[in-house]
Amino acid sequence: MRVLLIGPPASGKGTQGRRIAAHFDVPYLSSGELLRSQVAAGTPLGHRVADDLAAGDLVPDEVMLEALREPLHEAMSSGGYVLDGFPRNVAQARELETFAAKIGGAPEIAVWFDVEDAELLKRTRSRALAEGRVDDVDKVARHRIDVYAAATAPLVDHYRAQGLLIRVDAAKPVDAVTGAVLAALEPFAKLA
Ligand code: ATP
Ligand code: MG
Repeated sequence: MRVLLIGPPASGKGTQGRRIAAHFDVPYLSSGELLRSQVAAGTPLGHRVADDLAAGDLVPDEVMLEALREPLHEAMSSGGYVLDGFPRNVAQARELETFAAKIGGAPEIAVWFDVEDAELLKRTRSRALAEGRVDDVDKVARHRIDVYAAATAPLVDHYRAQGLLIRVDAAKPVDAVTGAVLAALEPFAKLA
């Protein structure tokens, strides 16, 4: 199973993505976590992206692809992926299509986590307190929501046009969202 997760910041992609991956036994890959771990480890790539992460801006497409290439290749060759946070704009979606075509790993489904802004800000506020992510403080979180609207939301139409889109109401409680996503994905699960 090859699944993309699309949604604004704090729409629950990480929480649900891990559950989806565990349920269908495919690797979970988060572009944001990948970058944050590079920053934490102080790698050259980490140094290049630290400012963008802190500001809530997207990192340059080519840097994102560089970070993701190997783990994604590995996931694609191991039967599938739940990909959280990539692609995040139409250019990245085209990159993914090119990359996937070479190894037969094109996405089969794009799950769109639909939540309104007021709820997102509530969540980033509590996450800022609980996890201390610098990009969850209000001003940066608002900016990330704007970046989502400008750069990422067009992917909803992109994948709808390809017939790959599934919308979930991600404002519901965590377990209810999980139930809805798993039910929607069940028909796509490959028989082992
Ligand atoms: P969740 O819905 O799981 O809470 P999130 O949207 O809050 O996720 P991440 O996906 O972890 O947050 O992204 C954090 C930051 O990482 C982004 O603001 C951006 O700077 C960078 N980033 C992540 N993915 C990409 C990408 N595909 N292209 C460019 N930058 C990215
Ligand atoms: Mg996340």
